[in-house]
Amino acid sequence: MHNPNPESTFSHKLLNWYHQHGRKDLPWQQDKTPYRVWVSEIMLQQTQVKTVIPFYQRFMQRFPNVTALADAPIDDVLHLWTGLGYYARARNLHKAAITIRDQFAGVFPDELESVMSLSGIGRSTAGAVLSIANGKHISILDGNVKRVLTRYFAVHGWPGTKSVEQQLWEYADQLTPAKDTGLYTQAIMDLGATLCTRSKPNCDACPLQTTCLAYAQGKQAELPTKKPKKAIPVRNTVMLLPMWQQQVLIYKRPDSGIWGGLFGLYEVDNVEEAKLKAASLNLGELYIEPLTEFRHTFSHFHLDIQPLLMHLKTPPVSGVQEQESLWYDLKSPANVGLAAPTIKLFSTLRKNL
Ligand code: SF4
Repeated sequence: MHNPNPESTFSHKLLNWYHQHGRKDLPWQQDKTPYRVWVSEIMLQQTQVKTVIPFYQRFMQRFPNVTALADAPIDDVLHLWTGLGYYARARNLHKAAITIRDQFAGVFPDELESVMSLSGIGRSTAGAVLSIANGKHISILDGNVKRVLTRYFAVHGWPGTKSVEQQLWEYADQLTPAKDTGLYTQAIMDLGATLCTRSKPNCDACPLQTTCLAYAQGKQAELPTKKPKKAIPVRNTVMLLPMWQQQVLIYKRPDSGIWGGLFGLYEVDNVEEAKLKAASLNLGELYIEPLTEFRHTFSHFHLDIQPLLMHLKTPPVSGVQEQESLWYDLKSPANVGLAAPTIKLFSTLRKNL
């Protein structure tokens, strides 16, 4: 069984590496108060270090402590956040600062549960703040750490799955040393950010290489397991192209729903219904020519389209044009917006005119 021998192998190697190669000059690594570490942790969620630095410096200048942040109007906070994205982070930061001012006498709490009760702070962020700023023996499991641990222990399964996450927390707890916890926290995050990167990890420079299972098995690229893609459902439709000379009958679609407000082809569920629809549109005698089926893909589903060209044998009678329908002239098109598959089909038809 793989035994990392936590103290002597993992954390020891990691801390040695961090002392020699880790980043220690980032702005939030100076004067490590819980407030300063907290703001950095929130800014670094979803955002690269080098993007965060100038934002962080401006933020600290304007809001040097938690009370200054709590007292500021939210618009000022959002203004300084402009360009960082994910604005809920700024709103939560402000809200949590107000809670700290009003319920914790302006002092950042020291207990894990209290910190986790603040807006926008999960277990990992709370652990990072308390271990880095206060030296508490609490583990973290942010994206970087998840990546390092899934590879080191060759843990398969998407880390967003409860059971996988739980297993990773167990490893994190087991490996996090009681001594130098804050440095260890920074070291493992740094290793994930600089060596054990998402693509092409630099295993040759990694202090954990000799005991890393992903390295031993050559599975670095497979781990962590990607989020399973949801299968996109497939729907079917039959699109009707009633055609007289160079004109095709289209209609204006309802404002809501797909292709809302655009003109498109009449649709039915299956070929049998096509004739009924043609009769209801008073199209007279016609012969039907199926065109090649094709797929139109939306973000949430595929639409398999069977087009039916319906050649009218006699000119369309007046009254065919029900509400907001139109005989669209392929050679001198009306100025209307067309649904994507309609455009595609019309360009095919034009080629044969
Ligand atoms: S050896 Fe490679 S895969 Fe393993 S922890 Fe180090 S960088 Fe990551």
